[in-house]
Amino acid sequence: MRLILLGPPGAGKGTQAKILVEAYGIPQLSTGDILRSAIAAKTPLGLEAKAIVDRGDLVSDAIVNGIVSERLDAEDCKPGFILDGFPRTIAQAEALDQMLIDKGVKLDAVVEIKADADELVRRVVQRSKESGGARADDNEEVLRKRLDIYKEQTAPLVAYYSDKGLLKAVDGMEPVEKVTASIKSAIEG
Ligand code: ADP
Repeated sequence: MRLILLGPPGAGKGTQAKILVEAYGIPQLSTGDILRSAIAAKTPLGLEAKAIVDRGDLVSDAIVNGIVSERLDAEDCKPGFILDGFPRTIAQAEALDQMLIDKGVKLDAVVEIKADADELVRRVVQRSKESGGARADDNEEVLRKRLDIYKEQTAPLVAYYSDKGLLKAVDGMEPVEKVTASIKSAIEG
């Protein structure tokens, strides 16, 4: 199973990805998690990405495309993968298409998790409180910027994947277990 989870910050991509990892025995590839580990470990990539991630901007396509391409070659991705937070721009989606052609594999589905803007802000503010402010980009001001960037740069992917016949939309306002059930029934058909 090769999946993309698409949706704004706070929609529940990470939560659902972790559940699907267990259900399908395939890894979650979160570019946000990979960047945060690099930042915490102060690797050259982390040092380059820190200011960009903290202020809510997108890291360059070249950097994230490289991260994903390398990660997709790992042994654990052979049976499939769940991409969470990538692609985030049309250029990234096009790069991913080429990567998958080169690797000789195809996507099964792109799941769009939908939620209202007010609920997204509420969840992220809550996440920030619960974690004691662990993520520098989870404050309301930076979040607004991330939501704007989502609308401008990432939302066009809905039409991109819909045109390819891959898009499945689910209601992310439902309780976690219901969202999981909707995703499974959407991808299992
Ligand atoms: P969320 O889904 O809550 O918005 P993520 O954990 O996916 O957050 O990403 C956090 C930050 O990491 C983004 O705001 C951005 O700076 C960077 N990032 C993650 N994925 C990408 C990507 N595909 N392209 C560019 N930047 C990215």
